[in-house]
Amino acid sequence: MPRNLGFWIHRSILAAEALCLGALLLPLPQNPFSLPRLVMEAVSSQSDASQSGTGRSDTGQSDTGQAGSYIKWVDFDVSSQAMGQALRYDVDSYDSECHLDWISLLAYLGARYGGDFSRYKASDMDRLAEQLQQGASMEELTKDLTYYPYYLEAYGAVLGGMVGNYDIQIPDQATGEPVWAGRYGLKAFSPIAKTFPYQDYDDFGVSRSYGYKRQHLGHDLMGQVGTPVIAVESGYVEAIGWNQYGGWRLGIRSFDKTRYYYYAHLSKNYPYHRSLQEGSVVQAGDVIGYLGRTGYSATENTNNIDTPHLHFGLQLIFDESQKDSSNEIWIDCYELTKFLTMNRSETVRDPETKEYYRLWQMKDPAVPGGAPEQRINAIPEPGSDSVPESGSLPGSGSSPGSASDSAS
Ligand SMILES: [Zn+2]
Repeated sequence: MPRNLGFWIHRSILAAEALCLGALLLPLPQNPFSLPRLVMEAVSSQSDASQSGTGRSDTGQSDTGQAGSYIKWVDFDVSSQAMGQALRYDVDSYDSECHLDWISLLAYLGARYGGDFSRYKASDMDRLAEQLQQGASMEELTKDLTYYPYYLEAYGAVLGGMVGNYDIQIPDQATGEPVWAGRYGLKAFSPIAKTFPYQDYDDFGVSRSYGYKRQHLGHDLMGQVGTPVIAVESGYVEAIGWNQYGGWRLGIRSFDKTRYYYYAHLSKNYPYHRSLQEGSVVQAGDVIGYLGRTGYSATENTNNIDTPHLHFGLQLIFDESQKDSSNEIWIDCYELTKFLTMNRSETVRDPETKEYYRLWQMKDPAVPGGAPEQRINAIPEPGSDSVPESGSLPGSGSSPGSASDSAS
């Protein structure tokens, strides 16, 4: 049985859930983004990381001013323990009259701690949960927490696609054959397939010198070449092909457009799952590519990274103008990746093509119209052009190397 079954409960209709949830969601004020001091500092110091070396000219002040009422910077410092605790409260209360929304719980603590989760105490969340379950409203409890709406939106942007209802195959207890089950809980996956070893440490923001002096805007997972790389969240392939920094890389955008997942340094000669091309739909838990050491070269298909690893990046996009700009928001994925180890996708290898596939199929309602199943010998829909010719390198026409893709 998967370890996270404890977090899953059988799906039931939303019933009384909305009663309490209504009280959790505060309407956002017109311009809630007069940010806490540490966020302002982060905005100005981030200028060192802009891709051209010219730095950004805007100060945090003007960034949060008339340019628009969207968030300009997020430090995601939430610990994996806090995420785990909030998830348990959310899932355990799902069928109760007072459904505790995990993002609201984390946002409350974020507002209390000024975003600094080194101050996290499990008892703080216990107390909050108890107050909510005794009938207190979040509005009441946060009336003195000026930045609660900011943290609610910021953490919601990071975690918004990770918990919900979905259907997934599980082994039938008697026969072992896959049977469908409805679930509520964590539906995002670790970027590394189940049973494949990797090592990591918190390397966000450390210095990189290839190309120009910059900060490392992602998280590196060191593993063996060929390790199947997994889609963390469902989405569509926005970028595929060679980039001077990331090598063979994939950019996958969430369907709500808020998150851009960047998977880089994929394997030489066989970087991507054969089913993928620009625009392809992927589901959380699908195999999307293979770990490698390509990149740091203008020449396609070049291994120029010393240590094989997956570079995993997550960019938040509150406004489309932030996507490829000097004001990109990349978050530290170390704790998030640790949290996601509770959900690792099991894979199976096709002995003929050597391609890996997910073992247990899933139906994620976040995918508009549903996604094709990823299984060995799946027959493509008639007229479908979503399966490129075997052996070809899809999308090898390199893109101009946007700022987003320089974060390796
Ligand atoms: Zn990296």
